[in-house]
Amino acid sequence: MKAKDYITLEEEYGAHNYHPLPVVLTKGKGPYVWDVDGKKYFDFLSAYSAVNQGHCHPKIVKALTDQAKQLCLTSRAFYNDCLGPYEEYVTRFFGYDKVLAMNTGAEAVETALKLARRWGYEKKNIPVNEAMIICCDGNFHGRTITVISLSTDPSSYEGFGPYTPGFIKIPYNNVHALEKVLREQGPRIAAFLVEPIQGEAGVMVPDEGYIKKCYNLCKEHNVLFVADEVQTGIARTGKRICCDHEGVHPDILILGKAISGGVLPVSAVLSNNEIMLTIKPGEHGSTFGGFPLACRVAQAALKVVEDEKLAEKAAYMGKIVRNYLKSIPSDRIELVRGKGMLNAIVITPKNGVEAWDICMAMAKNGVLAKPTHRHIIRLAPPLVIRESQLMQALEIISKTILSFD
Ligand SMILES: *Cc1c(COP(=O)(O)O)cnc(C)c1O
Repeated sequence: MKAKDYITLEEEYGAHNYHPLPVVLTKGKGPYVWDVDGKKYFDFLSAYSAVNQGHCHPKIVKALTDQAKQLCLTSRAFYNDCLGPYEEYVTRFFGYDKVLAMNTGAEAVETALKLARRWGYEKKNIPVNEAMIICCDGNFHGRTITVISLSTDPSSYEGFGPYTPGFIKIPYNNVHALEKVLREQGPRIAAFLVEPIQGEAGVMVPDEGYIKKCYNLCKEHNVLFVADEVQTGIARTGKRICCDHEGVHPDILILGKAISGGVLPVSAVLSNNEIMLTIKPGEHGSTFGGFPLACRVAQAALKVVEDEKLAEKAAYMGKIVRNYLKSIPSDRIELVRGKGMLNAIVITPKNGVEAWDICMAMAKNGVLAKPTHRHIIRLAPPLVIRESQLMQALEIISKTILSFD
């Protein structure tokens, strides 16, 4: 079969809920992927930052295959010998009392919302069914009905109502807006949910101090500070989690994507006992949540982050990326922004050329990236990329953009 045959099959038999670049991949290793014609690319999406540890990392794949031969799934009706050791590892890794293991990012967000509401009723004494959660314009937290009820992007929520009530939306990167809501409605607010950088919105980096100020305001009003670090966590922005940049330890931390190195869907919600123990047996869960295979894979994937100093690498290489991109002499580049290895180029639409066209040309030249919105290209390669490889890829990106002038 040829590339176009695979594309036709997806078109014919799959739901049309994505609009992929017309590249059919068959193999990955480290920062590279190969298509079915044998063409090699730098992967500058990393499955939306799920593959921070690089494609098919040998240590993570070994953890997967070793455990797959031993025991894959037990459900939580019984104990297994992988979950406890993983729970100890992940809670120590991030500095929390407890973890609740789930599978996808959206599920972890749902879990955090349930925890926040439960805490609001049990610990803050909010009247029954009146708890509110604050979220931010431009957010992306996943695709379930409740999670899209938070969204301000019509393509996420339109035509899927009715929506889950109990949320207050405020502008992102606006401390004053948070302060106002907390002042007016503080006693019935359980939590403030925020991405420390809005990835899907186009790598929106808030002002320095925003996260810290929001955290402090939450503390003042006895409101939980909940960080969705599904995309920004696990070394991507140059720290273990993005909130570390401002010395903030979220009350509830939501992780997904790279916690498994992109090998299995694994997500996690971390908090201290006061919050986590408000959920009792039978009140929340998932058949696969914390399954033995996932536990071994996630533990191995986190160990790779530590052993290979991926956070430090991301901090160092991120500076190279931004300096390089800012020096490209093209007036097509409106601005470059990001933190660590989560960066974006904002394109000035000119002569009908949009981010999509540039991504298509980049793919032809050997770098895969995906536009977010019409004018933003996110650049987020696996963190295991070597400096010499990074320079090669940046050169391709630069030449491609300049070729449109
Ligand atoms: C990807 C993402 C999610 C959703 O994760 P899924 O595994 O796709 O459900 C939630 N929050 C953020 C910030 C994300 O980037």
